[in-house]
Amino acid sequence: MKYKIFNTIAFRLTLWFSGIFAVCTSFVFLLFYYLATQTIQNQIDLELTDNASKFSAIIHTNGLMGARQLAILEAQAAGEKLIFFRILYPTGEVFASSRMSYWKDVQVSKTALQKLRSLDLNIFETIEVPSTGQKVRVLYSYVAANAILQTGVAMDVYSKFLSAFQLVFISAMGFIVLFSAVSGWLLVRGALSGVETITKTAQNITGSNLETRVQGTGNKDELDHLAITFNSMLDRIEELVRSIREMSDNIAHDLKSPVTRIRGFAELALVHEETLEDYRVMAANTIEESDRLLDMINTMLTISRAEAGEADFTLKTVNLSGMIREACDLFTPLAEDKHISFSNIIENEIFVFADIRMLQRAFSNLIDNAIKYTLEGGTITIIASMENQTALIKIKDTGIGILPEFHEKIFERFYRIDSSRTSSGTGLGLSLARTIVRQHKGDIHVSSYQNKGSVFEIRLPINNPMVI
Ligand code: ADP
Repeated sequence: MKYKIFNTIAFRLTLWFSGIFAVCTSFVFLLFYYLATQTIQNQIDLELTDNASKFSAIIHTNGLMGARQLAILEAQAAGEKLIFFRILYPTGEVFASSRMSYWKDVQVSKTALQKLRSLDLNIFETIEVPSTGQKVRVLYSYVAANAILQTGVAMDVYSKFLSAFQLVFISAMGFIVLFSAVSGWLLVRGALSGVETITKTAQNITGSNLETRVQGTGNKDELDHLAITFNSMLDRIEELVRSIREMSDNIAHDLKSPVTRIRGFAELALVHEETLEDYRVMAANTIEESDRLLDMINTMLTISRAEAGEADFTLKTVNLSGMIREACDLFTPLAEDKHISFSNIIENEIFVFADIRMLQRAFSNLIDNAIKYTLEGGTITIIASMENQTALIKIKDTGIGILPEFHEKIFERFYRIDSSRTSSGTGLGLSLARTIVRQHKGDIHVSSYQNKGSVFEIRLPINNPMVI
């Protein structure tokens, strides 16, 4: 799937990255800017106050005429375009001043004088000279009981410094945003490249190609973990697909034989002229084969439904001991026919909450297998007991046994060990038995040695009202 760059996580994270950098840098700049302006202003104010003190001292010693002299001299010394002095009467009338040709547009502020009179504190103002655009810091201060000093300093140098500061900031900001965007993009792309690999691997996977695996980073980070999880998911899918394939092969194989036989009977009936009795036998064989087929299909359906939780189980409290005894009675003649010693040790009064019909099917399959896979003269023992709220049923035989590698496989649908293909069967018996037992929250296991015999062990919790 192609996606727009604006929708990518990498793009969004980069945007966040640069945004956060820009905001932080602006904050730091504003803080610096504020501190710088405050410091500069404090410095100027201090300078102006110093001047006012000087004037105050001169007036004290030399009177107002001395102050007039000082105004001219101080302004000349510092630069007449840099500083000016005006000595005013408290009414605001100018008594004396430095040369004011450059500063002629600077008026005496009535509000400042008013404030000065009422507050009796130094009054500072920052004004802009309309004709020159020059910023000036002005101080109004009482330098004698009847004299006010209006003195101003050009803020040119400081304004230039602040403009330079702004320029430096804007360039630095541009660089930082660009740098954070590029580095953010590279970092995020690098970090997310693992996701891209997983996506590509997933895209390349088809039904016939499930072997591809994602290369882990080996860093034990989140992406490595994702890759490992993704790979183990693929392992499970591969295993599932393999077992589905195997199962469908088995189904095809097992359904083919009865259908072929049915076809054979029909062909015989068509080609040969037989007696009525022969036709009857053929019809009976056809019905038998069809029943086998139907039985297989029904068992398959039962297993599927039970596994999907849709099986039609009717749960009641049932006497398991009685049910097992009945099943044993049912199979005794079959065992006797094969000269197998068939016995049971069944504890009385084992009650479970279960679907008796389904449990009967499960036990029948297990006893049937025991008889089927035990040679003449062998022994089969059925043991049922109680153990910690669990009914324990063992079906022991001294039959052909099962190699360890098949202990799990025999519970798969349609799985039959090759060596037992000569005996009749569908490969569904154990699968159905396990599904039924599991639906009752129990489980079934086998322990077996080849040529020594097998023990199938069922554990059923007796108190399982939440089953199915
Ligand atoms: P089947 O119809 O072939 O008996 P099951 O699902 O009942 O199908 O059993 C699966 C396979 O497990 C059998 O084909 C057989 O190879 C093996 N098996 C089951 N029970 C026994 C047993 N008691 N002794 C030896 N092998 C057994």
